[in-house]
Amino acid sequence: MQNITGKIAFGGIAIGKIKEISKENNVVRRVKIEDAKAEIARFEAARDQAAEELKGLYDKAVKEVGEANAAIFEVHQMMLEDEDYLDSVRNIIEAQSVNAEFAVATTGDNFARMFADMDDDYMKERAADVKDISERVIRVLSQKEEKVNTSGAEKEKYIIAADDLAPSETIQLDRETVLAFVTRHGSTNSHTAILARTMNIPALVSTAVPKEVNGKMAIVDGFKGIVIIDPDEETLREYEKKQQDEKNRQELLQQLKGKPTVTKEGKEIKLYANIGEVKDLGAVLQNDAAGIGLFRSEFLYLQSDHFPTEDEQFQSYKTVAEVMAGKKVIIRTLDIGADKQIDYFGLEHEDNPALGYRAVRICLDQPDIFKTQLRALLRASMFGNISIMIPMIASVWEVRKVKEIMEEVKAELTSEGIPFKNVEFGIMIETPAAVMIADELAKEVDFFSIGTNDLTQYVLGVDRGNEMIADLYQPLHPSVIRAIKMVIDASHKEGKWTGVCGELAGDEKGAALLLGMGLDEFSMSAGSIPTIKNLIRKSNYAEMQKAAEEALELQTSAEVNEYVDQLLNKIYSR
Ligand code: PEP
Ligand code: MG
Repeated sequence: MQNITGKIAFGGIAIGKIKEISKENNVVRRVKIEDAKAEIARFEAARDQAAEELKGLYDKAVKEVGEANAAIFEVHQMMLEDEDYLDSVRNIIEAQSVNAEFAVATTGDNFARMFADMDDDYMKERAADVKDISERVIRVLSQKEEKVNTSGAEKEKYIIAADDLAPSETIQLDRETVLAFVTRHGSTNSHTAILARTMNIPALVSTAVPKEVNGKMAIVDGFKGIVIIDPDEETLREYEKKQQDEKNRQELLQQLKGKPTVTKEGKEIKLYANIGEVKDLGAVLQNDAAGIGLFRSEFLYLQSDHFPTEDEQFQSYKTVAEVMAGKKVIIRTLDIGADKQIDYFGLEHEDNPALGYRAVRICLDQPDIFKTQLRALLRASMFGNISIMIPMIASVWEVRKVKEIMEEVKAELTSEGIPFKNVEFGIMIETPAAVMIADELAKEVDFFSIGTNDLTQYVLGVDRGNEMIADLYQPLHPSVIRAIKMVIDASHKEGKWTGVCGELAGDEKGAALLLGMGLDEFSMSAGSIPTIKNLIRKSNYAEMQKAAEEALELQTSAEVNEYVDQLLNKIYSR
């Protein structure tokens, strides 16, 4: 038994035999030719056919993974029309009197090397794309059949192992026969990884799978990011059980999938997901989230050993926006400090970090860090439906200052000719101060999102991470739920909307109360969505409103908990 770790492109568990997809050894021979004109014409015909094939792949991808995710094949078509690329091929044929296959291979290698050497991560990834299109043209020139499809007469299912998979190869994998795929190279941001996510196939990249694995039994654990080759009986049983549990969860999910999140009267409720990084998107799509209500952008900083550059951030935000294909994506600006410390920020020791130098306070104090993030966010806004949200707001002046900085960044981008959209702008309500002045804050923003994790901590004065007082941390404390109600009402008075992105939104009892209090959007871990969707679909809105009103009159957490328990029993038993 051998355990090999990889980077998670998409979660899930697969058990089965490995099938190695080795690319044919496309050794392209250099052959002298007499008639360069005829050879160029042969190249151009092959290029046209390759472009035609890519158009077919684009249409297939649009049907299977949506327009935004299919866009990579349009990029490939455009690459095949790139004059620099075409000139290089023609020039090599003419100047060296060589065959078109050799000229295309040389051009492909040169361009790939050039892209790979670029600083910009997006451009680096174009190296794989230019190789992909070059191989396609060479295959057409050599009049070989395209051979990636794993569908065979027997339709046996396999875990696909490969050095790397180009997007065009990934989209052609027959989902009926592919259990998972594992590649030795590739990044989680690559389009191949994005396609895997949208295709719901467990996938790991950058995994050091040995070469001689063809036909071996294996387990892919896309949740933990490991491949187990030749698992022993005990591991196999353990994973068969995990797979069954996952299947049961998927079944509940399937029953609800596609069905609207509406109460019995048909009132529509927005159920969004919280994410920390791109790899969480798989679960978001699987669980049918209507959007992203909280992207904790500080994870990008936590996972890095340096300040993430504008381009590094842009790549992540763009990927999320693209995968969500027009659905709302609320990205929270850096929320570092308190329990999230990062060495390279060089923060001083603080006696009381939860009340200290954190989140928007750092961003306003060090505007360069903040501006880099805002630039990346605004640039990425062109690729989807991004909203920007600021954490830990306590005062109106902070919101105004943030807006001022945002205007400066927009002016800079405009003067550089860099396009961006006018994004929705919101703040998190996490401090008692923000609750008390919610009416003023509502005038300044497009929306509120209540961070009930911190709000509970600050309203009750109970450290959310201190086990000794864990019993006192009560999100259904009357003071907390009354604070939430004040915020929702204040936003509605100004015609704005309010969501909750703290844990309370994904908790059945919390969600029941929030629904009755008139909350507009619920954002939670993707895995909680089916449960809350089920609750909402069984709820009667008028009844929940009345229940919330009554619960808000209660005096202790115990009473609120008991009251909501009974309410849930009533809902589920009818
Ligand atoms: C919150 O405080 O409720 C919240 C969503 O933010 P975090 O948990 O990241 O502090
Ligand atoms: Mg918080």
